[in-house]
Amino acid sequence: MFKVDKRAHVDAEGNEVLTRSLASFLGFALGDALGAPAEFLTAGEIKARYGVLREMAGGGWLRLKAGQVTDDTEMSLCIARAVCRSGCWDLSAIAGQFVAWLKTRPIDVGDTCRRGIRNFMLTGRLETSPNTWDGGNGALMRMVPVALVTQGNDEQLDLRAVEQAHLTHNHELSDAACRCYGRLLQLAIEGRSKSRLRREVDSLVGEYPVFTFEPYRGLASGYVVDTMQTVCHHFFRGRDFEECVLAAVNQGGDADTNGAIIGGLAGAFYGLESLPARWLKKLDRRVMREIVELSGKLVDLSPMGKTCKVSNTWQV
Ligand code: MN
Ligand code: MN
Repeated sequence: MFKVDKRAHVDAEGNEVLTRSLASFLGFALGDALGAPAEFLTAGEIKARYGVLREMAGGGWLRLKAGQVTDDTEMSLCIARAVCRSGCWDLSAIAGQFVAWLKTRPIDVGDTCRRGIRNFMLTGRLETSPNTWDGGNGALMRMVPVALVTQGNDEQLDLRAVEQAHLTHNHELSDAACRCYGRLLQLAIEGRSKSRLRREVDSLVGEYPVFTFEPYRGLASGYVVDTMQTVCHHFFRGRDFEECVLAAVNQGGDADTNGAIIGGLAGAFYGLESLPARWLKKLDRRVMREIVELSGKLVDLSPMGKTCKVSNTWQV
């Protein structure tokens, strides 16, 4: 269906770091495109309109084509593009990509993201000031490329997660969620179990009890706490990629972002074969090509990638 560099990075334990990384980024884009038509709808409105939203429908308040992605995937691609072109982590280049993207007049930009990017354009500052209202999920939704390029080094992950976040969102709970989600992505890419991932969330909840998701409150807004709760609730209950993503998306609210974030995690955890072919077929071709190209480069640039053996065992 799509051609990729026919290599698989294999870490010391034989896990396919490259394919799981690719599955994560593609899974993220699939969740975004699937959920976008349901953004800002309630679960009841989705039910009335679609029964269960399970296909790439298009439409919604953004009048999307089926398979079209939104700001979540576009901003993640901005980070991936900047890092790959610079050949290293380069925060100015990332901010520059955000500016270039904003100038294309994208169909949707979160208010906090827009303010952060404008702040950089006006002042050149790479960090917004701490703000109580920055607790949205707009920094969390950019974590997939950060996890990929820092794979193999926890300190780098923590540092880069917060650096990219603070370009637009400077908030303690957003920072904590970004670090935790990045870690979950990396553990899933390493092939760890759900109970191992669960321990990571438990330690987040230990430090910030507000993230508790049992019992689940059922809130699916763009508040970073609601997003983490929704993603954790459905990820730990779900049995495969499709089930996880559908459950999150059909809750409505910030359906595209919550769908994307759970899609990134479930893609990494269940792997490339778990991504429904009928969704991949609909996904915007330009986006898909760029994700395939950049995922491989990010893994190459990561601490893990530099020590990986390269094998020719995998192809699409
Ligand atoms: Mn979006
Ligand atoms: Mn959204």
